[in-house]
Amino acid sequence: SAKREGKNRFRLFSVAMEQDYTERLRCESELGDAIARGQIIVAYQAIVDVVSGQTVACEALARWQHPERGLLLPGAFIEIAERIDLIDHIGERVLRVACHEAVSWNSLIQVNVNLSPRQLQRGNFVRILAEALHDSGLPPTRLGIEVTERTLLDDDESTRRQLADIRAMGVKLILDDFGSGYSSLSYLQDIDVDGIKIDASFTGKLGSNKVRAICRMVARLAMELNVYVVAEGVETREQLDWLRLNGIAFGQGFLLGRPTLHAPDRQAAYLAL
Ligand code: C2E
Ligand code: MG
Ligand code: MG
Ligand code: MG
Repeated sequence: SAKREGKNRFRLFSVAMEQDYTERLRCESELGDAIARGQIIVAYQAIVDVVSGQTVACEALARWQHPERGLLLPGAFIEIAERIDLIDHIGERVLRVACHEAVSWNSLIQVNVNLSPRQLQRGNFVRILAEALHDSGLPPTRLGIEVTERTLLDDDESTRRQLADIRAMGVKLILDDFGSGYSSLSYLQDIDVDGIKIDASFTGKLGSNKVRAICRMVARLAMELNVYVVAEGVETREQLDWLRLNGIAFGQGFLLGRPTLHAPDRQAAYLAL
């Protein structure tokens, strides 16, 4: 009967929730050890000049090499790490590994590292950054820090000062996932950045007149503010062609190169004839 089916469905649902819950608990308890055991590793994804196809920079992306579950993406652990106060450690680990590895590459591309809002709350991030640069020997001008609107949401003096200090060191500051939040434009008024990354949700909808208008506006804005623009999530040739024709200089996405555990290719595959 329908009643019985309903009951079964509920049972299945709660079993799934319970698995989810135990999964989370297991993940939380393992994450601390993961860092100590060197299981947090870094993948790099190319950021490409859409005209020449040359790789000009890359983004460092955290991966968890789990002994049983294989290579885990940030979606499986970054949020948890933020909640249980481990993001500082993971973030510092990714920063140190990225600086250390980038210095050994034979190309001089910039490497971008993502920053969680919490990493600015202790007030010691600038010191950690200086240490990572010093210990690795990576020139500050080859490092970029990607922040999202979440970082700027607090709008406190300490956040602003730390972001200004990062730039004063010569490290690039990049506004990540631009347009995906609520008040992207007001943040541009408050802090100085070197680059803007247009969120992948826009790149994926370039078929829409409205989205194309928004992207052209961002390109124009960036030109006037003298900052560079990267379109995230470039997956098709059509998207790439549109970016090139509309003054968006850089792209990042599966078409141009997937994240890899080694240095990104110097030239995007689509142009490497
Ligand atoms: P993000 O900073 O916006 O990074 C880009 C994400 O988009 C990456 O996912 C990348 O693999 C994915 N991506 C790139 N090109 C394409 C494409 O063409 N199509 C699609 N569908 N996706 C594409 P990933 O590696 O899973 O990272 C997800 C998010 O996790 C990142 O988003 C970033 O916010 C966060 N994250 C990653 N590493 C770190 C880290 O070390 N620290 C912090 N705080 N957050 C991190
Ligand atoms: Mg990013
Ligand atoms: Mg992004
Ligand atoms: Mg994004």
